[in-house]
Amino acid sequence: MKINKVLIVGGGSSGWMTAAALIRQHPYLDITLMESTDIPTIGVGESTIGHINSYMYACGLKDEDWMPHCNATYKTSIKFTNFRDNPGEIGTHTFHYPFGIMDFTDKPNGPMEFFRLQNKFPEDFPPEEMAKFYHPHVIMADENKMTKNELFKPEMRIRGFDHKYDTAYHMDAGLFGKYLKEQVCKPEGVKHIIDTMVSVTKDGNGFIKSINTKGGLTLEADLFIDCTGFRSLLLEGEMGSEFVSFHDTLQNDSAVATNLEYADIENEMTSATNCTALSSGWVWNIPLFNRIGTGYVYSSKFKTPEEAEAEFKEHLISDTMDYKGPMEIRKARLEKCEFRHIKIKHGCHKQSWIKNVVGIGLSNGFIEPLESTGLMLTHEGIMKLSDTLHQKKGKKITQWDIDTYNFTFFDQIKGFKDFISMHYTLSQRDDTPYWKHVTQGFSYSTKMVNYEPSIRCVYMDMAHRVLESNAFDLDMGGMIYIQAGQGYNPLNDRIIGEREDRNRANSHFPNNGDNWDAEKSKQAWFDYKNGELKNIINKLPTHYKYLKENIHKGVSNG
Ligand SMILES: Cc1cc2nc3c(=O)[nH]c(=O)nc-3n(C[C@H](O)[C@H](O)[C@H](O)COP(=O)(O)OP(=O)(O)OC[C@H]3O[C@@H](n4cnc5c(N)ncnc54)[C@H](O)[C@@H]3O)c2cc1C
Repeated sequence: MKINKVLIVGGGSSGWMTAAALIRQHPYLDITLMESTDIPTIGVGESTIGHINSYMYACGLKDEDWMPHCNATYKTSIKFTNFRDNPGEIGTHTFHYPFGIMDFTDKPNGPMEFFRLQNKFPEDFPPEEMAKFYHPHVIMADENKMTKNELFKPEMRIRGFDHKYDTAYHMDAGLFGKYLKEQVCKPEGVKHIIDTMVSVTKDGNGFIKSINTKGGLTLEADLFIDCTGFRSLLLEGEMGSEFVSFHDTLQNDSAVATNLEYADIENEMTSATNCTALSSGWVWNIPLFNRIGTGYVYSSKFKTPEEAEAEFKEHLISDTMDYKGPMEIRKARLEKCEFRHIKIKHGCHKQSWIKNVVGIGLSNGFIEPLESTGLMLTHEGIMKLSDTLHQKKGKKITQWDIDTYNFTFFDQIKGFKDFISMHYTLSQRDDTPYWKHVTQGFSYSTKMVNYEPSIRCVYMDMAHRVLESNAFDLDMGGMIYIQAGQGYNPLNDRIIGEREDRNRANSHFPNNGDNWDAEKSKQAWFDYKNGELKNIINKLPTHYKYLKENIHKGVSNG
């Protein structure tokens, strides 16, 4: 199969993101995007993760150009509130999953340094300290400040913080699609048709030849990209790709969402997506430049939609929110909220690409947005497709290309599914029937113990591999932050003692505990944190001011 002519069906963020990347990376392609005004887009999806920077790079998008059009703000981390313990017992508590590469300055034991210090000084190194220890920009996020290291002299730079690659975005995904349509796709030759697909015509080998529309058009192409959202009209509907549900592992299947006005923009426009655990799931809080997007993701086994909405409303006026001002203001902004209920379909098609149909975005798969993986799965699919086209430019796409695409995508999404499930598995909560169920009553064991290739994150496995290599294994991705934040420490006296014993006899093991000075290491961290770092952060603008001065110049956020 040679690909010159592409038809994208669907004009949500996936459709326009696909069109923009393909036209920028493969300008020789003849691309048409068709969308229906009869069928709305999903209308949620505002938080991204660091991987989006590869997509931005591929499209050549600069923050100053697109962010003001999409009410975008920066995101340096995901903050988890009340996930670890019963809040009724210990009060509100948080931990972060930051973006970026670990900073090992003054940390001779690399990724084990924190855990060794935590063993020796548990009071000084509680679980929430781990992300800060390796990513000091987390402390900046907690103080609601923002910087771009490269703009400043070395003495004003936060260790290890690379603004370009360590920040993702909060954005209005609908406006992002619109920006790509108006500023990239249409000016660069993507044809746009507003119509509704009603049927397809296939050739004798089962390849789609053309799409037939309500308006009477017959649209032919070499490759058809399904961006029709959860409907998956082409990939599942026409090509019959098997949908593998993840509901056996992920329990949340519903959401109720709304938008909040800012009451105190300087304090509420944080650079972290805050995920706050409630009685039967968790709430996302995503500060955009003009408003806050928020929603309660819950399990319908434990809450009806009405109960969930009532609990969500309680939360929105509670002290767990960043706004803690007068109750009349909290209630007044709540009154203006409209609530939308959404069903969540967790899972993925086993084959994302069949013959000449590729599914991108919700049409292909979705996992609950606890780690903001929605748009990520969209741009991961786009980048894989684009890379395949680069490899095969002018040549034929073969079944091997398609199989490779399908294998890597399905493997990746299964990995994310397991990663998300660990946010619940590792919790200590048991204060509601839901939390009791996800931590005590529900068995993940078949998925974890029957060691599937994608499950690399099992706790003891991490401990041993990190100890053996004394290096951070990139395969573990964010797992180490979730484990540490949930209070797990892979080390104990037996493991450390045995390691040190072996080190004495085997000089090739780099981690010689005999030479490690715990006091010195602890002191180095607190000197930096309470001295140099504090001074830098004190001088920085708030995230809101930073955006107003550097990105949204002259743009109103009303
Ligand atoms: C509760 C929830 C929370 C989420 N939170 C996040 C988050 O925080 N971060 C994140 O990155 N992602 C999140 N997502 C995912 C995100 O919303 C989606 O990945 C993103 O919006 C892309 O959607 P889409 O374009 O694939 O589908 P949609 O937005 O559903 O678009 C489908 C398109 O197909 C068109 N269409 C359908 N049928 C036809 C037809 N017959 N003919 C022509 N056109 C047709 C429609 O008109 C529409 O244009 C969330 C999703 C949910 C459900």
